[in-house]
Amino acid sequence: MLALTVLLLPLLSTASVHNHRSHDHSHDAAKRLPNTWYHRSDHPVNSLFKRGAATDGVTYAVVGADGWAAGYPAGPPATLDPSSMPAEWTAALNDAVARKAIPDVPVSTNANGSPVYPTGVDPNSPEVCSATFKCRIAGDIWDAPDGYVGISFDDGPTDASDTLLDFLSANNQPVTHFIIGSNMIWNPAQFTKAFNNGDDMAAHTWTHPLMTTKTNAEVVAELGWTIEIIHNSTGGRIPKFWRPPYGDSDARVTAIAREVFGLQTIIWNQDTEDWSLTNTPPGTTPQAINSSMTQWLTGSKSPGLIALEHELSEQSVASFIAAYPVMKQNNWKLASLAQLMGNNASYLNAASSTADVIGFSNILDAKGGAAASAGGSSSSAPGSASAPAGASKT
Ligand SMILES: [Zn+2]
Repeated sequence: MLALTVLLLPLLSTASVHNHRSHDHSHDAAKRLPNTWYHRSDHPVNSLFKRGAATDGVTYAVVGADGWAAGYPAGPPATLDPSSMPAEWTAALNDAVARKAIPDVPVSTNANGSPVYPTGVDPNSPEVCSATFKCRIAGDIWDAPDGYVGISFDDGPTDASDTLLDFLSANNQPVTHFIIGSNMIWNPAQFTKAFNNGDDMAAHTWTHPLMTTKTNAEVVAELGWTIEIIHNSTGGRIPKFWRPPYGDSDARVTAIAREVFGLQTIIWNQDTEDWSLTNTPPGTTPQAINSSMTQWLTGSKSPGLIALEHELSEQSVASFIAAYPVMKQNNWKLASLAQLMGNNASYLNAASSTADVIGFSNILDAKGGAAASAGGSSSSAPGSASAPAGASKT
């Protein structure tokens, strides 16, 4: 995958900032590239998030409106109950296990925030390969191609997302958002704003757990509900990328994400530690973050950077805004993760981030009104999704 990515990057232009409101897709590198496995419209994941078919009269609720948040797990519970997830997801997991596509790695336990495997299980062995222990599973993404900074933000949408999105929009800078599914219930307007900016919407789980501490079924529920709410809020788009909270994945979890949902696992190679700015007491300072980021950004461009950054608080957003000119001044090429992958495609069922959904066009075509304004028509991508006041934070 990385070799392919590097091969394809010369075809990319980071100047080709995409705009959902524009119908000009001529910049899409994807049109010049062969399809990959991820583009298969017949991937089984397509059947996991169909909210019925056009013949059933299915529409997508307007994001944030009455009824839009119905049917999802309540609150962010400590643990999702997998028994309440759709039977299709369980069946897809069972199928993957039967195919022996999911390694039989023991579930870790959460010891004060760190995953601990049973005695005798080596987290760095190829069989386990825990990302927390810096073991890199083949196919997972840790590095950006030389000269690139892949820009992404975890834990949104939040109240602080507005500041970030306004800055990104003013700078024509597309990024990737790793969304906490349950956060969308409280901040639908920020989600819609990011989507309409043309950003990649990716999955970060529903309750933000250490994923290797979760059973196979719990892993499916965490990813499935997050994909479901993104899907139902973007006119049927199925995210291609996910990032494990705390970077905690292993061979089992990565395989479930890939085999059940077709997800590509993204980690990072630099941690800004911006997440700890609002800890009590704070784990770092804006000055310390700026200092370490400046050090990376004035250093080697090989490999490129994938920095861990958050839209968790105004402070974490401010740390990115402070570093942005340093990225520019040091001639880094800045890209969303979908752009880094060489084809600007952040969804499994669309050829590019701005392209129409494939495999679901019948649903989008079938209904006007709410369906069209929530997800855009099939001819115009997301378009003019309105952002009603919706749920308030309590
Ligand atoms: Zn996170």
